[in-house]
Amino acid sequence: MGVRLVLPNLASLAQRGDLGERWSMARRCGLDLVEVPADLIKNRREAELTGLPIGSMPEDGSVELLYGRGDRNARYVMHTDPGIYRRDARTMARLRWGDEGWTDDYVRFLSSASRRLGPPPEVVEVHSGRDVDIAGMVDAMARLRDGLRRELRAPVIVALENKPGQAVATVKDIIEAMDLMDGQDGLGIMLDVPNLWKAGRRQAGGVETLPTERLVGMHVHERHRAPPGGAVDWSAVRRLMCRRDELIVNPEVFHRGELERALYFIRQELLAQKPHKGAAVL
Ligand SMILES: [Zn+2]
Repeated sequence: MGVRLVLPNLASLAQRGDLGERWSMARRCGLDLVEVPADLIKNRREAELTGLPIGSMPEDGSVELLYGRGDRNARYVMHTDPGIYRRDARTMARLRWGDEGWTDDYVRFLSSASRRLGPPPEVVEVHSGRDVDIAGMVDAMARLRDGLRRELRAPVIVALENKPGQAVATVKDIIEAMDLMDGQDGLGIMLDVPNLWKAGRRQAGGVETLPTERLVGMHVHERHRAPPGGAVDWSAVRRLMCRRDELIVNPEVFHRGELERALYFIRQELLAQKPHKGAAVL
């Protein structure tokens, strides 16, 4: 399958989205998957639309209001709530992965969104937030995976994204999470590259030592713009990528113009076969 590229959640796309629109744009750009946002109620507009408070779980009836039409040919990844500060509500969206009832509510929401969109997602991306430890997060991921597989009858993969300030932020945290996933099917890591550097420059250098068996994919950007932006050591990232044959790569930029540049960077700088330093030139 090799490397598969994702159409990110561009600011110009209808929010939450219309899977048909996203999928046809992805095909035009030569991309293999699309990202579909699956946040908690995100802002005042969504709160008014659904009658639910910001930061709460969308209910079954809200799904039709939030998501446009589906597309049964589309292939996509769902990006769940990152647990960040919501300006509208002046509050952090709280991720409650330690609470089994809340995790089951997320299963219900994702399943209902997925039925609206057509096919099941290939990957569901999650962030740990601040309310659980690493072991608690891996338990919640297993619960989410089991719930989604039961509801959707599809081999959905649940992948954890690292974020500074959250339970899983550094290379060490990621390795610990990977160890806890040992022997479990359908759990992995979605490595956000610049987030690793935001969590600390020195530890981020260890990126190339990460084990790759659990590496589902990567978010490639710098401050949501096309790399290189100066903060990340992309040659270390490249060496990590070389060790993994199957990978989902999301150029997680916000604007269409940046997308072209990010794709060029990924194809030319990260994925292109380059001769080793010192290799004989024939
Ligand atoms: Zn990301």
